[in-house]
Formats: sequence, structure tokens, C-alpha cells
Amino acid sequence: MPIDPQPGIMSIAAYVPGASKLSGTNSVTKLSSNENPAGPSAQAIAAFRAASDTLGVYPSSDHAELRAAIGRVEGLEPERIICGAGSDEVIAMLCNAYAGPGTEVIHTEHGFAMYEISARAAGATPIEVPERERTADVDAILAAITDATRLIFIANPNNPTGTMILGEDLARLAAGVPETCLLVIDGAYAEYVPGYDGGAGLVTADGNVVMTRTFSKIHGLGSLRVGWGYGPVHVIDALNRIRGPFNVSAAGLAAAEAAILDTEYTRACRDANARWRDWLAGALDSIGIPSDPSYGNFILARFTSAAMVEVADAHLKQNGFLVRKVGGYKLPEALRITIGDEIACRRVASLLGEVMKRSST
Ligand SMILES: *Cc1c(COP(=O)(O)O)cnc(C)c1O
Repeated sequence: MPIDPQPGIMSIAAYVPGASKLSGTNSVTKLSSNENPAGPSAQAIAAFRAASDTLGVYPSSDHAELRAAIGRVEGLEPERIICGAGSDEVIAMLCNAYAGPGTEVIHTEHGFAMYEISARAAGATPIEVPERERTADVDAILAAITDATRLIFIANPNNPTGTMILGEDLARLAAGVPETCLLVIDGAYAEYVPGYDGGAGLVTADGNVVMTRTFSKIHGLGSLRVGWGYGPVHVIDALNRIRGPFNVSAAGLAAAEAAILDTEYTRACRDANARWRDWLAGALDSIGIPSDPSYGNFILARFTSAAMVEVADAHLKQNGFLVRKVGGYKLPEALRITIGDEIACRRVASLLGEVMKRSST
């Protein structure tokens, strides 16, 4: 008998990343993974290059400099920050530390896929809670909590829907979660929402709310794998005990530190995104492709059928544009389109205009 993996592992449907290549062409515009079309800050690139001088040396284990920079820019306590190889690793650490066989991990109907994957990997049972109009439903989440619940994951704004729940609802959710479980607010897109703290205000020193963030989205550093979490002292202490001592590379730490300190660049990226996101949503709406108001750097374009999604996706591909099909998120009639630069947005709108015109004749 060959050896079997731990229970739950073989029930995982492996994560499907956004496509990055098209056969037969080199000129591809990738709008399938919510990357920053402008890439990282020039200062982050310079820091990355400088890190190439010391490739033989292990990186910092305590990430003190990056945590200090994050603390300064975000107004948080560095002692309560933990860094990971992407926020995906922080999500996995939370599941490994707090969930396991016989426990439940709540995620929402169209929530980010890594919650379910990491819950199963830890041996826990993922519990899917219905959303309302593609938006997290606070009452449904609270009603799903049982004695076995250990973690509740909510991405706010959520990927792939782009929707979010606002301050009052988020606070109501946090207040309703019992002490025996942790509420994890994933703020991967928080920087795109003016005036939003990603949920940081709900994270107290001795409570049960954790926030996760990433350098992969607005900071344009997806290739380097850097993310972080902010939590109560007791949670950060537990996570640090299972964290690999050198889980973030020196190049990643250096580039991330430079990136978060370049607040001017972050602001410029947020403004450009808002401008072209609203333009693209309006342009698509006017040709019969609606989308919910998005708070992220993408829109979820809704078509009349899954067949129309195939037609639209094929036409975009033929013309060198990769977007994301989200059938795996129970959204077979939608395409998630990352907000590219002006040229990309205009081209996507015009290509989808061709699709809609053809389908109506
Ligand atoms: C992209 C994304 C992440 C993962 O980011 P990494 O830091 O690259 O691991 C986490 N949560 C959501 C909702 C995302 O969309």
C-alpha cells in the first residue's frame, strides 16, 4: 500500500492561477491576476537590485525593518505585525495554528479560494456561507458559527466580486464573533479604497480579529511573495512559533520596505486605478455588460450566459488579452478583468463591444 496524505488533502481542488501565456503570440496583456499594470515603485526596484550584492547571506528572521516601515506608514504597532511569503502564507499559518480535524473554517460563497484550500490542508472542514447579491452577508456568517468554528475569513474588498461591506457592518461582524474564534479580514485590496484601514481599527491587542495584507497588488511585487498580518499579541506569538525562520527573502523584504515607504507612488496607483476602473465599468455597462461597483483593481463583468463568457473570453484571447474565468467561484456567467493601463482598458472595451454587437445580430 502506498502512503496516503493526511485526511482532507485529496479533497483539495488545486488553486488555478490566472493564465499568463497565449500560444502563438508574444504580445500578451495579462489582466488575469490583479497585478499592478505599472509594476512596483522605482525605489522598490532599486532596493531589489541592491539586494543582489548579498545573495549568499540569510535574510533577517524577525523582519524588524519591514515591520517598522509598515508600522510607520499604516500607523500600527510593529510588534503585532507578522510577515509571510505572500499573505497566502499568513492565511496558511492561521489555519495551521488554529484549525484542524474536527474544527470548522467559515468562508463566503464567492470568497477567495485560498481559505478553503488552507482549511482543508490543515484537516479542518470548510463551511461556505451564502452571499447576498455577490456581497458578504454578516447575518448569514454569524448564523453559521458553531462550537466547532475556529476561523472566519472574509476578504474586504472581496476577490473576485470586487464588493465590500462597509465600516458599520464590519464592526457588527467583529462584535458578533465569539471569543473562541478568530475573524480574519483579508485586506489584499484595502489600499484601493480611500479612507479604509483594511479593518486595522478592529484589531485590538487582546482580541480575536486579525487583518492580512499583501505587497502583491497595489505595491506591484507579486513575484517576490511578501505579505503581512496584524493581530492580537497572543495570535502573533502563536504564528511566530510555526513560521519558518527565513520565510521571506532578503530581496523581498528590501523591495517591500521601499515600496511601502513610497506613499506618493501608492497614491498615484490608487488614483489611476480608480479613474480607469470607473471608466471601464461605465463603458461596459453602456454596451450591456453590467458589474457591481468594485472597490478593487478589477471588475467582475457579468454576461447573460456562460456561453457568452466563452465567446467573450475567446475574442479577448485572440487579440492578446488574458482575463479570468471565475466558474470555480460559482460565477460561470462572469469574467474578472483586472484594470490595466488606459490603452488596455480602451482596447478591452472595444473588443467586448465587438462581441456584443455580433451576438445581437
Ligand atoms: C491576491 C490575493 C491574496 C494573496 O496575495 P499574496 O500576498 O500574493 O499571497 C490574498 N487575498 C486576496 C483576496 C487576494 O486577492
